[in-house]
Amino acid sequence: MAYTALYRQWRPTTFSEMVGQEHLITALRNQVTSGRIAHAYLFCGSRGTGKTSAAKILARAVNCERPENGDPCGECDSCRRLLREESLDVIEMDAASNSTVDQMRDLLDNVIYPPQYGKYKVYIVDEVHMLSNSAFNALLKTLEEPPAHVVFILATTDPQKLPATILSRCQRYDFGRIPADQIVQRLREAADGAGRQAEDKALYRIARSAEGGMRDALSLLDMCIGYGEEITDDLVRSLLGTSDAAFLFRFTEALGEEDAAAVMRLIDELMRSGREPIVFARDMSEHLRSLLVAKACPGELPALLDVTEDAARELEGQADRFTETRLMSMQELFMGTETSLRYASSPRNALEAAALKACLRTGEEDTAALRQRVEELEQTVRRLTEQLAAGAWSAPAPAQTKPEKKTAEPATKAAPRPKEQTAGGRSSDTVWKDMMIALRRGADIPLHAMLTSGKFIGCRDGVYRWEGDKVYLAVVQKQEKQALIERLLSEGAGAPVTFEPSLPGQEKKTAGESEKEMLSQLQEAFGRENLLIQEELPGEG
Ligand SMILES: [Zn+2]
Repeated sequence: MAYTALYRQWRPTTFSEMVGQEHLITALRNQVTSGRIAHAYLFCGSRGTGKTSAAKILARAVNCERPENGDPCGECDSCRRLLREESLDVIEMDAASNSTVDQMRDLLDNVIYPPQYGKYKVYIVDEVHMLSNSAFNALLKTLEEPPAHVVFILATTDPQKLPATILSRCQRYDFGRIPADQIVQRLREAADGAGRQAEDKALYRIARSAEGGMRDALSLLDMCIGYGEEITDDLVRSLLGTSDAAFLFRFTEALGEEDAAAVMRLIDELMRSGREPIVFARDMSEHLRSLLVAKACPGELPALLDVTEDAARELEGQADRFTETRLMSMQELFMGTETSLRYASSPRNALEAAALKACLRTGEEDTAALRQRVEELEQTVRRLTEQLAAGAWSAPAPAQTKPEKKTAEPATKAAPRPKEQTAGGRSSDTVWKDMMIALRRGADIPLHAMLTSGKFIGCRDGVYRWEGDKVYLAVVQKQEKQALIERLLSEGAGAPVTFEPSLPGQEKKTAGESEKEMLSQLQEAFGRENLLIQEELPGEG
């Protein structure tokens, strides 16, 4: 008999068999029992937390002839057909591999036909954030007026990448990481089922390294079972080797100590274990970003980064050993390496070169100091130009041309600028730069680093817009951070202004703009001649 992977063997077929996620499971059961099924569900959460399993169970439950407390019975014709995957009423699609608009259109073309056997036609779209813009727009059209027999279950690890128009039409469920205790319990059952002894410590190590994902935990247990009779902590540790978070911590520590020899040894270990340099560069860049967030918002990591309390403490501990500038420049370095590794003839050499560069602190700090000096000079020049424009002085008297002596006091504590200076029409660029300088001078240095990683896109009607990476965005959007930025900007502008951060390309558009954009995307996707625009859609046949 062919071997079935543990995570398939232990994939739950009913809500009762699922591990964790108690609250949302109860909500889903209630929907099935009451018959109030939504047209679109959005299942969010990190990998292996049960999104796809729950989607499959829900798809069977809404079609089951005799559901029991919201669970599919597993016995009726519909349940059996769906378990054998013989029915066309449940359509699964992985957006990561089918993201083209053609496939989405084929799928949506068939939406109007009623289900073959059951009550509902259920579309499960995995990794839905990977859809192209045109595919999203096609999906949106269907979500706006879904036929009565259709249910969409969209699953994603990255809900922030979804357009707001899609989000607003879905009932959202957030799948949290599964607590280690619960994972260990299931691992124990699986090990017993396979007739293997396992040390408690070994199972806990597996659960911790899976970071709340059941699928990863079971895959690791599978690997252990393949290796030996008894599952010991030593076995797990040697199997995890370079693939777990501990390796990232060790590597970062070596960078912190500027220990080039240790760095090279670790890369050697990494290569021997068969890991991809590009994956490692990505992991490092994410790890360094987490450290930067740890510096900016200590004590709030579990919520911001979706990590366990233990992991948060470890991140904060390591973050303490670096300056923001250093973390920032190392993060940029590994992010850049990820791109260049794609084209490198020897990925190992490219990774080693980047790692050695990350080891050298001096160069980076010189650059940072230089950048700060340039910013200061720019500010001085601007102030002088403004004074000149405002007619503050006509002939440069020596005492006045000298730039103000810098005080150690943070710039945020300075009194608001007098009106005369700001009325001179300071550009929004100037106001932004001054705010950044104030942050950097001590108002909030990590916040400055994060804003630097994104882009200031300009100001319109007193709204300053900035775009950036989703994790930094979560920090920047925090009320006190946003308030600080707005206060500094308002001081600089001499009038109250607001600050609006967003993800790249997600700047809010007016209804008219987005409609026009959608139309042009549809025309681009289907060809202008194939598009018939009607005021109202015809009713579902
Ligand atoms: Zn059934």
